[in-house]
Amino acid sequence: MTSEQLFEKAKTLIPGGVNSPVRAFRSVGGNPLFIKSAKGPYLYDEDGREYIELINSWGPMILGHAFEPVEKAVADAIQHSFSFGAPTRKEVEMAELIVSMVPSVEMVRMVNSGTEATMAAIRVARGFTGRDKLIKFEGCYHGHGDSFLIAAGSGAMTMGIPDSPGVTKATAADTLTAPYNDLAAVEELLLNNHNQVAAVILEPVVGNMGCVLPEPGFLEGIRSLCDQHGVVLIFDEVMTGFRLAKGGAQERFGITPDLTTMGKIIGGGMPVGAYGGRADIMRMVAPAGPVYQAGTLSGNPIAMSAGLAMLHHLNDHPEVYTRLDAIGDKLTAGFRQTLEKLGLAYTINHISSMFTLFMTERPVIDFAGAKSCDTALFGRYFHAMLDRGVYLAPSQFESLFLSVALTDDLVDRIIQANDESLRDVIG
Ligand code: PMP
Repeated sequence: MTSEQLFEKAKTLIPGGVNSPVRAFRSVGGNPLFIKSAKGPYLYDEDGREYIELINSWGPMILGHAFEPVEKAVADAIQHSFSFGAPTRKEVEMAELIVSMVPSVEMVRMVNSGTEATMAAIRVARGFTGRDKLIKFEGCYHGHGDSFLIAAGSGAMTMGIPDSPGVTKATAADTLTAPYNDLAAVEELLLNNHNQVAAVILEPVVGNMGCVLPEPGFLEGIRSLCDQHGVVLIFDEVMTGFRLAKGGAQERFGITPDLTTMGKIIGGGMPVGAYGGRADIMRMVAPAGPVYQAGTLSGNPIAMSAGLAMLHHLNDHPEVYTRLDAIGDKLTAGFRQTLEKLGLAYTINHISSMFTLFMTERPVIDFAGAKSCDTALFGRYFHAMLDRGVYLAPSQFESLFLSVALTDDLVDRIIQANDESLRDVIG
């Protein structure tokens, strides 16, 4: 069956034909591609086409698809059964590795997705502080937990449903929101909700309204406001963790959060998440403490094996990060050259292997800036790139993720495709 036939059938069986909304191509139009396999920098669809991959499973494939040490680790692990629901040596190794790589993490608990990690981190912060409210930023996405579907980015933004039906008014009332990069707004919320705010949660570099960087001083400012008000600072590093540096954004920017949430990267693409941080806070988690959080498949041996192979490689090969920086620099320099040549003043936000070309001339430092983009133009650009064999995230409000599998030749091909695609769509 072709992608189109599969999608028609899927729509009768799965809501919207997909198991996660952004995949449906709603915001760019057309039918989603059904992916059959991937290797290194390439994706192959059910229609027999090859694409250069700039999503990389929304982050985890830092080393490219089907990276051999990860494949081998999984092949070895499946010989010993898939799940025990009992503790294993690999979980201890994983915890030790994460603690050694991520600066702020003293203890860590494994879960099965980024959503689980953020939901648990908030519960722990509430249990620790005895307070109910949380502050999140407009356009940041922290998974689909009820508390976070308020002014949320990513799919929620793309689909135009930032406030989802099904989230109760009582839950929504405990989530306060501020514009990203706006310290004064956070301070005001903290003063107006004195001693009621348990946590501030943020993406230290945002991926979910497109790539948005913290302005100089923003992360430092949030850190000191949290200290002044006794608030738990949570960095959601589901996208940035192990990507912007081996210790994530917190290492790159030198800011220490109290808790960190991590996701798919730890599993090398297998369904995994984790949250960790200060030992005194993490000791609140059951059975060490009273805050309940559990999971039958948590610390799954196959996922741990894939993740250990991936993280060991990242830990032992610092040149991966130098290479990611170099690929990102070369690619965005090429994109900028094209913009200049064509007299276009669109905004490119970039850090290392994360970047977004925003179809707006405004700087994008927050949700309002992101929303000023011409999304119809982005849709046409997306398809022009796809026609040239480059697979971008199917929404303006997502970051792209590069992998070390991209050779210089492939980077040149992407730059060329971008040049041709922009010429096409601006007419
Ligand atoms: N936090 C962030 C920053 C994310 O980008 C995502 C998903 N991309 C999540 C949390 C939720 O992770 P998951 O989709 O694995 O539940």
